[in-house]
This record gives sequence, structure tokens and C-alpha cells, in this order.
Amino acid sequence: MINIILFGPPGSGKGTQSAKLLEKYKLSHLSTGDLLRDQLKRETKLGLEAKKFMDKGLLVPDEVVIGMIESKLDEAGPDTKGFIFDGFPRTVEQAKALDDLLTKKGTSLMSLIALEVTQEELVKRILLRGETSGRADDRDRATVMKRVQEYDNKTAPVADHYKSQGKYNAVQGIGSIDQIFGNLSLVMDDLMVANRS
Ligand code: AMP
Repeated sequence: MINIILFGPPGSGKGTQSAKLLEKYKLSHLSTGDLLRDQLKRETKLGLEAKKFMDKGLLVPDEVVIGMIESKLDEAGPDTKGFIFDGFPRTVEQAKALDDLLTKKGTSLMSLIALEVTQEELVKRILLRGETSGRADDRDRATVMKRVQEYDNKTAPVADHYKSQGKYNAVQGIGSIDQIFGNLSLVMDDLMVANRS
């Protein structure tokens, strides 16, 4: 299976680029942010609990998101070519859980691909997205800054976890959507070739 983590801080373009990768490589999308927002919209117990964290720009507890990913992986049929993980894992604990879940499925992670974007550009992009996304956590500068801080403290170490496994790749996340996608595709194509040999 082709399992890829599309990694990067909030606002780095993970959602936009995931959509293009799914189409080109025929992979399935697993975004914990989208799954949580869906729970929230349906006002489930999990959604209402998660909202308390999301509204403050804080990470939702590990066991909640790991449970969601586990059931989505269990649902995947035999035709699934692989997954793009978007917004997950966001802590080293989640990364270790993902490694175990993939091993249980008889597969493993191919690579973490990081989108590199400066902090100044991130905050600008998220506040701009907040004008149209309908997301409360995109509108308030203090919440946006908190999300970036959570990323620096808890999520950035996930990159080291996969560097130590030799699975880390990075792509410049600044430029036009198509330019960035072109760079991502080069990395993906190299990974596919390496996987075949
Ligand atoms: P996103 O759409 O990926 O930017 O996620 C929006 C919000 O959902 C985050 O700020 C967190 O509060 C929560 N969230 C999404 N994915 C995770 C995760 N893997 N672990 C913890 N919280 C998450």
C-alpha cells in the first residue's frame, strides 16, 4: 500500500494538496480535522467534546483521534491502494499508534512529506481562509497563534520520529498551488519507483 503522511503546520496547504494527490494517485483521504468537523456538525458526543479543544486551538486528546483513525482503517476494503494522512499524526504518541495500526494491517508508512512554509505566511493564509471557510478556529488571531504553538511544541517532533526511520521528505510549500503540487509529485514518483525496486 502507498501510505503517506502529508505533514506541515496549520495553513501549509495540506488539505488543498491532499485533494490533488488523491486524484492523481487514486488514494484514500484520512483527515482527522475533517472527521472531527463532521462529528461536530452532527453534534455527536465525540464532536461536542472535541469542540472544547478545537475552539481554543488546542489538540484533541490522542485516544479520541487514534480511535477515529482505527475505525476508518478497519472500514477500508481490499481494493484500497493506500492512504494520505492529513493532519494526523499530530503527536509522537499518535505516530506510534499509526505505526502499530499499519503493522496490524500488514502494511507500513511509505513516507512523511513535509510542506515547508514560514510562520508569517501561515498566519496570513489562515486568517484569509477564515473569511470564507466558515471555521471559527480560522478567524481569531489568538486561536490561530495557539494552533501554530501547539504545532511547534507537540507536532514538529513527529517529523523526527520518521526521520529516524529514514522516511522523511520535504517540499517547499510556498509558490502557486500547481508549482507545489509539481514538487510533491516528483517526490511521490521517486517513492513509487523506490517501492517497486
Ligand atoms: P485541521 O483541520 O487539521 O487544521 O484541524 C483542526 C483542529 O482539529 C485542530 O486545531 C485540532 O483541534 C483538531 N485536530 C485535528 N486533527 C487532530 C489530531 N490528529 N490530533 C489532535 N487534534 C486534532
